[in-house]
Amino acid sequence: MKTTPLKTRFAPSPTGLMHFGNLRTALFNYLYAKRHNGIFLLRIEDTDTARSTEEHERSIQEDLKWMGLEWQEGPYYQSKRIELYENYYSKLEEMGALYPCFCTEAQLAIARKVQLQSGKPPRYPGTCRHLNANEIEQKKKAGIPYTFRFRIQSKELIEFEDVIKGPQRFDSEHIGDFIIRRGDGTASFMFCNAIDDAEMGVTHALRGDDHLTNTPRQILILKALKLPIPQYGHFPTILGPDGKPLSKRNGSRSIQELRKEGFHPLAIINYLARLGHTDSEVALQSLEALSTRFDLKKISQSPARYDVQQLMFWQKEAMRKCTWQECWRQVELFEPELKKMIPENERQNFIEVIQSNIVLPSEASQWAQAFYASELNFTEEDEKILMAVGSPFFETAIALLSDPNISFQSFVADLQQRTGLKGKNFFMPLRLIVTGQKEGPELAKFLNLMGYESVKQRFNSALKIIYTQKTHTGSL
Ligand code: GLU
Repeated sequence: MKTTPLKTRFAPSPTGLMHFGNLRTALFNYLYAKRHNGIFLLRIEDTDTARSTEEHERSIQEDLKWMGLEWQEGPYYQSKRIELYENYYSKLEEMGALYPCFCTEAQLAIARKVQLQSGKPPRYPGTCRHLNANEIEQKKKAGIPYTFRFRIQSKELIEFEDVIKGPQRFDSEHIGDFIIRRGDGTASFMFCNAIDDAEMGVTHALRGDDHLTNTPRQILILKALKLPIPQYGHFPTILGPDGKPLSKRNGSRSIQELRKEGFHPLAIINYLARLGHTDSEVALQSLEALSTRFDLKKISQSPARYDVQQLMFWQKEAMRKCTWQECWRQVELFEPELKKMIPENERQNFIEVIQSNIVLPSEASQWAQAFYASELNFTEEDEKILMAVGSPFFETAIALLSDPNISFQSFVADLQQRTGLKGKNFFMPLRLIVTGQKEGPELAKFLNLMGYESVKQRFNSALKIIYTQKTHTGSL
């Protein structure tokens, strides 16, 4: 017996760039299909010609590929399926389940206002529902633009099991006859989205819960046309840190922006896979591994909150887990001048020393400066720290570093013993002299990479700086 494969889909409208919200929808659909050896399909919902652009469509595909969310079917373009939708309109017309509506936006706005004022939920009042063939003909002849509305046939309860939110029920009485073809002749989202899910054999339509109230309408369309109804599942939305829906204003970023800043795709994926979905695994995971544990039951019922700290955590993890070659590729992509600065045979060492200290590849630049710049710049506060340790610290270090065979451990031990400095009072100035920073990669590795001769030079130039300072301040 042939079993139909599980099929999910991502159905973006190319009216903007990809953000966390739609990327998470794509990711969850991808993971669910992969988990069940199913098919993940891409459908571009571009019937709204006024708002859809090719540029957005291209960037959506680029983002998905960059993330590794490869689809097995599609991309389908709704703009190329008009004939199919027309056929279904004809079928509905024959059944009397569709009628032309000549109401203008202004008339509809008044009706909505009146209903709201009398405490009723706004719905289409049915003005054009009972026009006879003659009246329709006359209005058409007069050139009045019209939409098509789906006729709600009877009073019924529309019930379905949401695979995420559980049982749902809607009363058809509360749903007014709704538009399924726009005034410009294009198919409305409500219509072609439902038709395509059925036509394409989509078994699971998983999407944001802003679509939950569309679902009973779409079920009515599919039922009328005797088309298969997919299982619907609606994810709670993502909120910003302020509790308002996530938007540009409260921190949402486009995937393109993140890519340009040097975020790693796996960081974004690992973050989103845990945004509103519990995953007990705390380590960075591949898409494959994430899919093995992806479960609709683990999707939270309450809205998820975007947290930039979490995103940065996963970004740091992703940087740490890269091979040195991968990490270098990122670094040279974002900071191309480092190719000139860092000799080829030192790149592996350089990356290995700094890898766990950078979150974004652009930060490598600061460390390259620390390694390769002939002079370091100190802030006033740094200079104060250096002056406080006193010149014996410098002189002893320079003497010790003249022995090319000294190990880092004995250098540190001898210098501590001879200066009497310990802990932070010892390591902070040492780090500052060698790297120009108060915090950073492991010092032993740093010193080895630089070589003692360069370290000695750093001590000499730092010493010069404090001498100059002391002369200025008269403390010599
Ligand atoms: N084109 C719709 C959107 O971008 C798709 C909704 C759905 O997944 O059914 O919101």
